[in-house]
Amino acid sequence: MPPWDPVEGVTAPRRVEVHPGREAIVEFDPELTFECVPECTWCCHHGVLLYEEDFAELAKRENLNRSTKQLRGRDFVKREDKDREEHVDVDGRACHFLRDDGLCALHAEHDWKPTRCSVFPLSVSVVDGEIHVDVRDSARTYCEGLGVSDRRIVDHLDAFLPPLLWDLDDPTSDVVIE
Ligand code: SF4
Ligand code: SF4
Repeated sequence: MPPWDPVEGVTAPRRVEVHPGREAIVEFDPELTFECVPECTWCCHHGVLLYEEDFAELAKRENLNRSTKQLRGRDFVKREDKDREEHVDVDGRACHFLRDDGLCALHAEHDWKPTRCSVFPLSVSVVDGEIHVDVRDSARTYCEGLGVSDRRIVDHLDAFLPPLLWDLDDPTSDVVIE
């Protein structure tokens, strides 16, 4: 059976070299395409997991006391109340760095963003010591960028999965806070 069977709709995992010598097991339909819809901003309405290296990089750019919090031993970018009606979740909150204009302050002002923000709408997990990548469950429901372009995700995995992920003790990306 091919990795993606258009009749059965079944995806068999496939091994892909994402960076030289760094492979991931791809669990999603290789025909799936993605292009971010900037005015959407859904994925920036939440707290964001910071890997240790991200935390150090963020410290060079922003005040950590104002922008981060710790929960269960992990660091996150804070989710906070915003005094606006756009670019917020239903409870009026969003990522500390999501500006009023819908742009990420880190990306716009520092040309940098946390690893987890690059990974979305994908999710990373580890099985038997290997990195597996799939589409995040919440992205299948809320991300407006899936299936709207000709840009196959599987052809651009290096843009979603920084090499850093292969050096981490735990690159699992689906860790959320309220
Ligand atoms: S949810 Fe998807 S389309 Fe919306 S801003 Fe995030 S990546 Fe872009
Ligand atoms: S850090 Fe930037 S890209 Fe990441 S969730 Fe916050 S606003 Fe969005």
